[in-house]
Amino acid sequence: MVMVAGNKLIDVHTHLEQYTSKELEAVLNNALNAKIGWIITSGMDLETSTRAVEIASEHTQVLASVGIHPWSAADTQQRDPDQDLYKKLKTLSHHKKVVAIGEVGLDFIDNVSTGVTFHDNSELQKSQQIIFKQYVELACELHIPLIIHARGANRTIISILKDRKTHIAGGIIHNFDGDERQARELLDIGFYLSFGGVITYPDAYQLHDTLRKIPLSGIVTETDSPYIPLYQQTAAKNEPCNINRIVKVIAKLKRMNPERLIEIIHSNFRTLFDISDMESSR
Ligand SMILES: [Zn+2]
Repeated sequence: MVMVAGNKLIDVHTHLEQYTSKELEAVLNNALNAKIGWIITSGMDLETSTRAVEIASEHTQVLASVGIHPWSAADTQQRDPDQDLYKKLKTLSHHKKVVAIGEVGLDFIDNVSTGVTFHDNSELQKSQQIIFKQYVELACELHIPLIIHARGANRTIISILKDRKTHIAGGIIHNFDGDERQARELLDIGFYLSFGGVITYPDAYQLHDTLRKIPLSGIVTETDSPYIPLYQQTAAKNEPCNINRIVKVIAKLKRMNPERLIEIIHSNFRTLFDISDMESSR
């Protein structure tokens, strides 16, 4: 048993399978030393979702989510004509450490890393929406939250979620970049807004402004490790232990005591996810 009971910090969004096994042990140790209590690792396709569940089953403090990332909509196989992928992910989702469906969502901004252009490609936008809606339905059916990637697509995502409002068990908008109005619409339908490395940049004026206006009851924290480096981060890869720096920046923007913020985020996390079984067994 790992002694994590007093650790209150939360990292709601990571991709732990992106580390080598050797790196992962060090990363998880650093996280425990930094008082991170829970980390959610999210799959982006079948392979990474399978690995996410494996990592979660091997580590007490790690929870998993399974899904198809919107970037995969450019890949014909991921469009899943035979529903083979969907069936396999659905089976995986029954694992006791799977607490959400994700990473799913919509991304209408051109992607420099994959070279795929989404913003003016209505066909790709359409296939992203087909995939996204299917996993929204799965989350409704299983009655578990969603972990959503929303880039340049907040309006469409809000309208899809509103349509299923009464059936959705809430969720998280990871790396939220919308405005105050969008934030409030999402809070109204039971979503939490997650803030990570971007908030640590002194020139992220718009995001700072939005964060100041959002109620504390709607905020959670993430690193998106190993991606999204923090301001002046020297290490090549981001890590969950950096949640500490993110919390400090949010507390400063909110003009509050970081310890109180940590308690609130912890309680937001516990409200969204039903993890009492796992809590008592560690
Ligand atoms: Zn991600």
